[in-house]
Amino acid sequence: MPTPLNILVTGGAGYIGSHCVKRLVADGHTVTVLDNLGRGHRAAVDAAAEAGGGKATLEVADLRDTDAVEAVLRKHAVQAVIHFAALAYVGESVHDPLRYYDNNTAGSVSLLTAMDRAGVRRIVFSSTCATYGEPTQDQMPITERLTQQPINPYGWSKLMTERALIDYGNAHSDFAFAALRYFNVAGSDPGAHIGEDHEPETHIIPVVLNCALGKVEKISIFGDDYDTPDGTCIRDYIHVEDLVDAHVTVLGALGDGDQRFYNLGTGNGTTVMQIVEAGRKVTGHPIPAEVGPRRAGDPPALFADPSKIKDELGWFAKRTDITEMVADAWRWFEANPDGYGD
Ligand code: UDP
Repeated sequence: MPTPLNILVTGGAGYIGSHCVKRLVADGHTVTVLDNLGRGHRAAVDAAAEAGGGKATLEVADLRDTDAVEAVLRKHAVQAVIHFAALAYVGESVHDPLRYYDNNTAGSVSLLTAMDRAGVRRIVFSSTCATYGEPTQDQMPITERLTQQPINPYGWSKLMTERALIDYGNAHSDFAFAALRYFNVAGSDPGAHIGEDHEPETHIIPVVLNCALGKVEKISIFGDDYDTPDGTCIRDYIHVEDLVDAHVTVLGALGDGDQRFYNLGTGNGTTVMQIVEAGRKVTGHPIPAEVGPRRAGDPPALFADPSKIKDELGWFAKRTDITEMVADAWRWFEANPDGYGD
């Protein structure tokens, strides 16, 4: 059992954050969630804590309110922060970039300022493979050494946060951070206590499952003329519980002065068509699909070389079967067709 800590989870009312809350509570940590509930769900925090066999405290505040965040850090004697809170739609970021820089980048700088004032010296940050931009096929799988050159404001908003963390870390040798670059996060708590409930929902697996629920008439495959085996885009889907496990491992390893960067993926590529097929298999629904135009900003293939975190910390993704990931997600969708109902 790890040493119990007072941990602040920003965005803990969201999809990934709530899975982290469940895990941290189960591990015996004292968990405070900071969320503005803009896209999170109040009910997710209690459901997550209950699934973890304990309680978590929700503090409703916006990251950009530095004074409020500082007060939360002091009130709960926070020792480490796991920072999920962010807007995370590539397409939306292209149309409304300032919102992304404000929420994601300025919000993170505000959080760091509050941590600085309150003397909190550890943070694990949700970064993204979108910081790598559009690597060429001969650069697959993606290592952490690949030049980061985002192709959309979402990716830039996260990369700028990585930069702020590096520069702050360079100025403070007792500070430590990790930036975890997620590939595509999928699946949910197999007990279906918590899951994915986004509005709007644009991610492929939830869209497929919403189709099985009859909430979406048919799905659109965004392009089948890519240079991939079946012409549809390739992504690296990692189970949310594996992803959370990596955060716990990394947090436990952080020591003064650390600046760690890890890709979080399985190393396997799955096409959009394979996701649709997994959805059909798991739900028994025909999932009508039509091929539509390519989506702006979509790289053809993205998958991780996840060996750095394995070599350094012994961590690797254990749930690699895409059908099982879709099946876990389906359990939540089937039991909660209206999500959290808020
Ligand atoms: N996609 C699709 N139809 C949809 C949603 C997504 O064909 O309704 C494709 C999308 O073009 C991408 C892949 O599915 O190639 C994964 O997209 P998602 O939005 O789930 O995640 P992203 O990779 O953009 O973070």
